[in-house]
Amino acid sequence: TPTLPRPQRTRIFVVANQKGGVGKTTTAVNLAAALAGSGARVLVIDLDPQGNASTALGMEHTEGLPNVYDVIVDGQPLRDFVHPVARFPTLFGVPATIDLSGAELELASVVAREARLKRALDVYLAEEEQAGRRIDYVFIDCPPSLGLLTMNALVAGREVLIPIQCEYYALEGVETLFRIVNLIREINPALEVTTVLLTMYDARTRLSAQVAENARESLGHTVLRSAIPRSVRISEAPSFGQTVMTWDPGSPGALSYLEAAREIALRDPAVQAPSDLAGSSD
Ligand code: ADP
Ligand code: MG
Repeated sequence: TPTLPRPQRTRIFVVANQKGGVGKTTTAVNLAAALAGSGARVLVIDLDPQGNASTALGMEHTEGLPNVYDVIVDGQPLRDFVHPVARFPTLFGVPATIDLSGAELELASVVAREARLKRALDVYLAEEEQAGRRIDYVFIDCPPSLGLLTMNALVAGREVLIPIQCEYYALEGVETLFRIVNLIREINPALEVTTVLLTMYDARTRLSAQVAENARESLGHTVLRSAIPRSVRISEAPSFGQTVMTWDPGSPGALSYLEAAREIALRDPAVQAPSDLAGSSD
């Protein structure tokens, strides 16, 4: 893997789309693996009670095991729940179990309930930085809803990454997500939708091309040039507790996630000169 520039400071991505099955989890774990493969220090936080990201990263997540629930609901330190990911010396994950599904209700009466994850994450990131082990990227994998868990992610993060499935009604709901992001900005002014990724792209269909065109028209330069093709290798990797980056590194799916990771690394908002932003015409 070619080496990519390290971000100037930790980039925290919230992988969100209230629709299920659009590729959030697949995108979170594979981008994380692609970036970690280039030497970056990367943390994936599973925030979906289904625990699909935990599965893909080979982390146990049966009911009752220690997991991100203990951080969000009980206020325990995130550090105690960070696991190393096999085959990637610089990739780490925080698992989620089905216990997390109770969090929305249990937090209902708690003060600052949308800032629970932020508090824990900020402490962890500061500790790592102090120890000379700065985390370069965080990917928070959201559940398919706009409830309290996704709110926690949006308050903790800086960049929203929206995977868009190249299917009918692909852009439906994206406007709502933008509205929520705008609302959250009142408490987290840094938050921005920086990245949109087209997933399950099928070059043989007009529908995929149409979705891509519509997305680029309405979402502009946030849409990455690389789209992720529909690929069996991508979808079968989790059943082996792996990302496609190790399951089949030469497959088109793996290469497309590498390409997307490269684009993301080269688009660090912290190093973008004001003239770049003003003059961006793509
Ligand atoms: P979400 O997290 O948004 O619910 P997932 O990442 O779990 O979506 O993807 C939904 C399903 O589609 C999963 O079974 C996953 O393996 C499959 N999938 C995701 N991306 C691709 C792809 N590029 N090609 C084929 N299958 C994919
Ligand atoms: Mg998911």
